[in-house]
Amino acid sequence: MPIAREDDDILSLIDEADDLIPARPARSWRVLIVDDDQDVHQATEFALANTPILGRQIHFLHAYSALEAQQLLRDENDIAVILLDVVMEREDAGLKLVRTIREDLGIHEARIILRTGQPGYAPEIDAIRDYDINDYKTKSELSRNRLYTTLTAAIRSYDQIHALNASRRGLDMIIRASSKLMARHGAREFAAGIITQISGLLGLEPEGIVCAHDQGQDPLQTTIIAAAGHFAGAIDRPLADLGDAHVIAALAQALGKRASQFTEDSTTLFFAGESGHDMAAYIETNVALDENDRRLLEVFCTNITVSLDNVILFGRLNDHAYNDQLLHIPNRLAFVRAVDVALQSARLDETVALIDIDHFSHLNDALGHRYGDALLIAVTSRLRARLATTCLLARVAGDTFGVLGIDHELGPDVLLDLLRAPFQIDGADHSISATIGLVRLSETEGSGADAVKAANIALNRAKESARGEYFYYTRDMEFETRSRVQLLQDLRVAFDRDRLFVVYQPQVDLATRHVIGVEALLRWRTDEGKFVPPDQFIPLAESSGLIIALGAWVMRTACAEQRRFLREGVKVLRMAVNVSVAQFRHPTFLDTVDTILAETGIDPDHLELEITESVAMLDADFMVGMLQKLKERRISVAVDDFGTGFSSLSYLERLRVDRLKIDRSFVSQMAQGESSRRIVETIVQLGRSLDLDVIAEGVETDAEADALTAMGCHEGQGYLFARPLPSDELLGFLLARQAT
Ligand code: C2E
Ligand code: CA
Ligand code: CA
Repeated sequence: MPIAREDDDILSLIDEADDLIPARPARSWRVLIVDDDQDVHQATEFALANTPILGRQIHFLHAYSALEAQQLLRDENDIAVILLDVVMEREDAGLKLVRTIREDLGIHEARIILRTGQPGYAPEIDAIRDYDINDYKTKSELSRNRLYTTLTAAIRSYDQIHALNASRRGLDMIIRASSKLMARHGAREFAAGIITQISGLLGLEPEGIVCAHDQGQDPLQTTIIAAAGHFAGAIDRPLADLGDAHVIAALAQALGKRASQFTEDSTTLFFAGESGHDMAAYIETNVALDENDRRLLEVFCTNITVSLDNVILFGRLNDHAYNDQLLHIPNRLAFVRAVDVALQSARLDETVALIDIDHFSHLNDALGHRYGDALLIAVTSRLRARLATTCLLARVAGDTFGVLGIDHELGPDVLLDLLRAPFQIDGADHSISATIGLVRLSETEGSGADAVKAANIALNRAKESARGEYFYYTRDMEFETRSRVQLLQDLRVAFDRDRLFVVYQPQVDLATRHVIGVEALLRWRTDEGKFVPPDQFIPLAESSGLIIALGAWVMRTACAEQRRFLREGVKVLRMAVNVSVAQFRHPTFLDTVDTILAETGIDPDHLELEITESVAMLDADFMVGMLQKLKERRISVAVDDFGTGFSSLSYLERLRVDRLKIDRSFVSQMAQGESSRRIVETIVQLGRSLDLDVIAEGVETDAEADALTAMGCHEGQGYLFARPLPSDELLGFLLARQAT
């Protein structure tokens, strides 16, 4: 027998050596000997002791029967070679075991070398092919040298098969990992996914960081966008802050060299992104990776880079979908989403404010879109600079900004104040006014969209009745809004059934208190006898178009009454009629005026149209043309509510109106505030310098009348002199006055 029997000394030496090596050395080939002959085990082990194959020691496992081998194989893995005795319990026990190994246990990588003591007892060629048997040797052939070469061939074959399978498995994992990563749309989520996926590929706990880098940027200044394990606290900080020189160096090197770096205990992967947005991932592996793992990771990196490009592309799409491209702030969609998040996280101490720039579309039409854009940009940067950093600023419509923030940081007065100072556009000052609608999140129900809608209801309400001011949303508003539809319907019916009437409020010469004119004011008394204030129904009529017919009717009625007063012996009076924007802009407006003048036969000299400052701000050429035509007809024009808008001096000069009507808010505040007094004074002086008459409305006290007179204001209107009166009462009032 060529296989020598070991003597005891050598055996004990081997035993000792075995004790020194851990039971399962990390890098050794595991070879299983299956043989019912104890001697064969010992001889084989002895022959190959301390003989590395392909750079690794052999680690033997032993089974003494087919059954024992089967049990052992069920529990063990990574067995490179099985040296298998053909004849054991039974003649074909070995061959049967081979079938079990391949078919039942599903072990395909392990190489099998059959051995038999009896030459001539060879298995059929079929078995060798079907069960992937590597070699067939008689035990006599297994001399030390032959054993070595046979085993080397088998191990090499095992290694190749294993590597192939490993990378096939790896590729499969990579494909699955990348498709998982593809589903993550944010760069951060993607980066976090990289750590878990790599750790998963290597069978490690996730420990690592990912940083995002723009080409040309100092690697130390790159931001850590994902961090796992004991690095978790480092997220969102610059790499330089990490405080771990080893990790910093590894990442800086990978980014600098644009290549992955492998060391004894770590792996740093480089991902080249499209247009210079790279990423690098540091993974703590704690062992040096072998060739296979490295190759796997390289494939992973290349594969992932494609996904990274997609993520960046997606980021850009996201940017378009959620950011305003002119102002570079979130858009309506993003704003609604943010409000949604706030509501979902029960941040009920927050408020949504919608800030609307007054008359922006007029301004855009008059001065051009470029100017409008410049104004929006200026407003944005003012808001950005002055709002608390915790506030979210968005553009929710053309000229409407949305702000989400803590209640006390979002006081409407503060917001209005913030916009008060003029904006520099093209080197010139431009002042704006804004109207604000707000809603406290604690006051809303439903989604972010519902909250924004509520703020919008408040904004619309403010725009209708309190331009330049603000309204908080209340639940009643929505109810009122619904009933406003009803109100409009009722108004139409009332108009059709002549339930509307006109009252007249005298205007006096402040020095003599003689009545010099009257203002026609529309009234609506419902069938139940309730008065609906014009502040409520006029805006409705304006927004529905009903104002065209309604306004014409007021003018006709007022002119007819004036005619009647004259017949009744009243001295000729100026008749002031309010005209809305919609009327003024309507193409048939002048025809209507002409028709009414002709029908009633009154002297156009005695008709005055009251237009608000916002009408005066309509397109300049149009306004100048209209006023010229009115002047040709000798109809006079007063600018109502003067001081609340923002007409400029030079513009007023061009317009050639006849009278400025000081808004009653300034008159009533004259006594309290120095600033209101100064505004009144300024308007009076402005009138004087432009050669315009000035009338003050809302005069309620003698003190106000005296102060106005002292300032040089000659005309007044208000409860001090007379309330608006129904025509018969007015007639009596006027005749009585004339008599004295
Ligand atoms: P306005 O043109 O500024 O009209 C003056 C308003 O001030 C009137 O309210 C009048 O009753 C009120 N007023 C007069 N003197 C005093 C005073 O001493 N103290 C106070 N606190 N208020 C005084 P009114 O009649 O409720 O009208 C409100 C607004 O409705 C008007 O404001 C005007 O803008 C609009 N309006 C009324 N009638 C018409 C109309 O026929 N056509 C159009 N287009 N608008 C109208
Ligand atoms: Ca008026
Ligand atoms: Ca007024």
